[in-house]
Amino acid sequence: MDNAVQIGLNPFEIAQRQLDEAAKVLKLESGMHELLRWPMREFHVRIPVKMDDGKVRVFPGYRVQYNWARGPCKGGIRFHPEETADTVRALAAWMTWKTAVMDLPLGGGKGGVVCDPKNMSAGELERVSRGYIRALGHYIAPDVDVPAPDVYTNPQVMAWMMDEYEKIVGASAPGVITGKPLPLGGSAGRGDATARGGMYCIREAAKVLGIELKGATCAIQGYGNAGQFAHVLGEELLGVKVVAVSDSQGGIYNPKGLSAKEVIAYKDKTGTVKGFPGSKDITNAELLELDVVVLIPAALENQITEKNAGRIKARIVGELANGPTTPEADQILHKNKVYVIPDFLCNAGGVTVSYFEQVQNAYMYYWTPEEVHQRLDQKMTAAFHGVHQTAQEHKVHNRLGAYLVAVKRVAEAVRLRGWA
Ligand code: NAD
Repeated sequence: MDNAVQIGLNPFEIAQRQLDEAAKVLKLESGMHELLRWPMREFHVRIPVKMDDGKVRVFPGYRVQYNWARGPCKGGIRFHPEETADTVRALAAWMTWKTAVMDLPLGGGKGGVVCDPKNMSAGELERVSRGYIRALGHYIAPDVDVPAPDVYTNPQVMAWMMDEYEKIVGASAPGVITGKPLPLGGSAGRGDATARGGMYCIREAAKVLGIELKGATCAIQGYGNAGQFAHVLGEELLGVKVVAVSDSQGGIYNPKGLSAKEVIAYKDKTGTVKGFPGSKDITNAELLELDVVVLIPAALENQITEKNAGRIKARIVGELANGPTTPEADQILHKNKVYVIPDFLCNAGGVTVSYFEQVQNAYMYYWTPEEVHQRLDQKMTAAFHGVHQTAQEHKVHNRLGAYLVAVKRVAEAVRLRGWA
């Protein structure tokens, strides 16, 4: 474990505790439980990069291949100054459960480079991206481990990485990485897939709870890729009235509703949502506790904890962020009948369309946006009801319900292979 990570909120410890809870309910044998608690394989590399000033800097990089019993590992690569091995392990574990809960024929992986892209030139970023693949290219492949974008990596980074990989193997291999730009084999519909998948889940949750979403109030924490598309698609697909949004600088509130088009244009101009005309400034903590029907955390981990969970008033919490709710908070929300759609189900739209991208790359035949949306809707709706039913049957909260579905599937594959 990384000592620097605060004990108790270490994301990998949280991931392990969540698995432990599911293992108990499923009565997993000890060998199986132990296998699923840890990554099966991980790589720690050092990437030397010539910087613009002519000096060489060495960046630590990671790739964790958590479990591949159900298929090739799948998971993004983060470029972040505070990246740690434990963060990557936790995210790789969650990817394993995410692909399983969606019933995709994939395992879980994750990668990262400790670097600060905000303070690097495009050339430096390209050399780090290519350096990562030189260090790890022999250990990934379309049928081994398929990376994708994550925090501070984007389609351009994926393009450089694919190109470097193809140089190493001497062949065209677009399926080695997803989230690519469209002209290089990316999929239609990948840009808003995470938020779109979340909206389908919220729609289904409202159905089972008997809640009318048209005109229902909604608050969104975080205004990046996930948060902005949640605002646009919340209006478009669900008809909700978004009354509050926030970013790292703070939040805004207007009980009459905030237009996605206007707030996005304002943020593009000023760099923040704060100060949006006609709205009242609120803090991120206040946003979470607003009396709204739908709350969408779309920013960071550990936002809903035992300290504020008792004050959450939303009927539905759709977790687009990874790890926004701690295990203690889960118990409190469940007791208070707040319906949580857990992260690895609610934000699985991104990986699902990444999987569609792999399929299209393998066939060399590409789908229309409408086909992608329709297939995504089918996958998300089926996964949502699988989790909902399991949670009801076992009388547990939805996150545990999702773990029960996912862990059972991975354990079955492990057992059939004779690993445990
Ligand atoms: P992003 O970098 O595009 O946006 C993050 C947003 O969060 C920014 O608006 C930032 O200002 C805001 N933010 C940062 N600190 C904050 C704070 N303390 N309080 C409130 N807001 C804060 O990232 P993203 O891609 O939108 O990802 C957001 C979350 O969704 C992450 O947890 C990510 O792992 C998860 N997620 C994203 C995808 C995807 O496809 N983009 C897929 C699955 C999960």
